[in-house]
Amino acid sequence: MSRLGTQDLHCHTDMSDGDLTLAQVAARAAELGVEVGIADHVSSRNVERFVSSEARVRRYLDALEDAPVFRAGEFCWCDELWKELPAEVMDRFDYRVGSNHGFYLPDGTMGSPWWQKLPEPWNGRPHEVMDVMVANLCDMVAAMPIQIAAHSTLTPPALFDLENDVEAWWTAEREDRWVEALAASGVALEISNRYRLPHDRLLGKALQAGVRFSLGSDGHTRAQVAQLGWAEATARRVGITEREMFVAERRRRRG
Ligand SMILES: [Zn+2]
Ligand SMILES: [Zn+2]
Repeated sequence: MSRLGTQDLHCHTDMSDGDLTLAQVAARAAELGVEVGIADHVSSRNVERFVSSEARVRRYLDALEDAPVFRAGEFCWCDELWKELPAEVMDRFDYRVGSNHGFYLPDGTMGSPWWQKLPEPWNGRPHEVMDVMVANLCDMVAAMPIQIAAHSTLTPPALFDLENDVEAWWTAEREDRWVEALAASGVALEISNRYRLPHDRLLGKALQAGVRFSLGSDGHTRAQVAQLGWAEATARRVGITEREMFVAERRRRRG
């Protein structure tokens, strides 16, 4: 059987901002015949809801070790927690996911891939915002100890209001920069079932460059977890096969 579509490597539980318990996610995945990796938010950006301290990371990993899931975490590029965790804790993850939930702007502020409007002074400078965002992504895969870059081409809706064409923002040159950084780092490119990205042209270039891929539902609800229909169809449409997939494996458990 082809492995394509059999691993959802990006699921959330109520250990961060998902609706379902770990047991409910595992049960839903089993029902759908999909292996799942739990990649809850490991970040201090939301101290209450996220796995936001070393002690909480340890408890989170303990819980995952007792479940039939891959042990993962979604780390924020825009947060420091991933730099502060000891190696012995980082090593307990089967794999780690990195996300640009915010990107560093040269004026010291933080940009958002969910911006509905570009704030001053970036208003009217959308292509500069894009360049900075792409540069942040390239820095992210070079610097972070991750195996997967999640929903990486998420682009502020404010830009699509100006021009509703993904290739107007993800120009050939920006695509090339991102693909080169992925290839150089060995980090896999997630195809996000939730956000329906990346777009085909970028995926085709990544395939040509030898980049590896993963599928992620980014599921937070029962309707979303372990659902990979769009992501799997997209992978097949652009010619990705199981050979190009990042395949998760369980590390040895304690004791
Ligand atoms: Zn995310
Ligand atoms: Zn996520």
